[in-house]
Amino acid sequence: MIQSKGYAAQHVNSPLTPFSFERRDPGPGDVVVEIAYCGICHSDVHQVRDEWGGSFYPMVPGHEIVGKVTAVGSEVKRFKVGDTAGVGVTVETCMVCDNCKAGAEPYCQKGMVGTYNAKTYEGEVTYGGYSNNIVAPEHYVYTISPKLELAAVAPLLCAGITTWSPLRHWGVTKGKKVGIVGLGGLGHMGLKFAHSLGAETALFTTSESKAADAKRLGADEVVISKDKDAMGKHAGEFDFILDCVSAPHDLNEYMGLLRLDGTLCQVGLPDQPLPVAAFSLVTNRRSLSGSMIGGMRETQEMLDYCAEKNIVSDIELTSVEKLDEAYERLLKGDVKYRFVIDLGTLK
Ligand code: NAP
Ligand code: ZN
Repeated sequence: MIQSKGYAAQHVNSPLTPFSFERRDPGPGDVVVEIAYCGICHSDVHQVRDEWGGSFYPMVPGHEIVGKVTAVGSEVKRFKVGDTAGVGVTVETCMVCDNCKAGAEPYCQKGMVGTYNAKTYEGEVTYGGYSNNIVAPEHYVYTISPKLELAAVAPLLCAGITTWSPLRHWGVTKGKKVGIVGLGGLGHMGLKFAHSLGAETALFTTSESKAADAKRLGADEVVISKDKDAMGKHAGEFDFILDCVSAPHDLNEYMGLLRLDGTLCQVGLPDQPLPVAAFSLVTNRRSLSGSMIGGMRETQEMLDYCAEKNIVSDIELTSVEKLDEAYERLLKGDVKYRFVIDLGTLK
């Protein structure tokens, strides 16, 4: 076994504290990554606090992982020791169902195995990236361009692909009018991508103080969502709205902004149901949809696109000692726009 150390929640609502554990020795198809940086996703907070149900402990969160390859199994083809590599939200899928074969691994019919707070098909508990190393099958490990600032690449592995995948799936491009709701970790990547793909892009925010940043990040327009008049001016205008909000809010306000055949895609995962009126849907033949992370092939495509266009996340580096403070600040919206843990601070 490989000795690992990290930070874990020992039970629901507990602070994150040092934790030693073991990972499997790499099999023929596995890659071992020494973790340099790991992003803090709002999903980490939801799961540590068991807001979705089903959490188990001790839990080492973290699914925005980048670092250096330190070992590879005999059958690994794409990586060698010393390569820069990333691991995201998924570490196992069945690979044989229709969805896996189509490159839609998060929708694996056997169930995708998460990087933490999950068990592999063999029953091994998975531990995430708030730690010094990780072992994952090659299929779930990504190549990272040395052109990009490594710490700022980490959030692409979740916040990046979770916004990229729906924008691509629903054909966001020049000539489309797109709304991004919520300027957090996901929202700021959605904004960068929608703008980069050529769409006319509006950012909907509850935080007036974020308006200038939103423009810098690619918004053609910023709408303060608490301002009913400002919202009403955009009725029936949008082709596509990507909702990245982590807390309960009224979807009907956003559905009303969609034009004929427009789609609202939910990626934020509040812990409560979001009621939608039938009239919000039938008017303009609208669609309400959702999307989960993204497939392995499209994640690598997104990373390669980011290398070509020089796109990374806007981050604030933090340390393992400050994890609880980072969680509190994340919940207050006090981060621009993603915390990334420097695992060099793990002693
Ligand atoms: P985050 O950084 O905390 O951003 C969430 C944003 O939502 C905030 O910055 C804020 O934006 C807005 N917001 C927060 N509370 C609100 C409220 N009460 N009413 C209206 N707006 C509010 O979180 P994140 O890491 O981007 O994650 C966002 C959500 O996506 C989480 O629920 C997370 O679990 C989920 N997620 C889903 C997937 C997936 O595969 N679908 C993947 C990763 C994460 P403003 O200040 O601009 O209003
Ligand atoms: Zn995430």
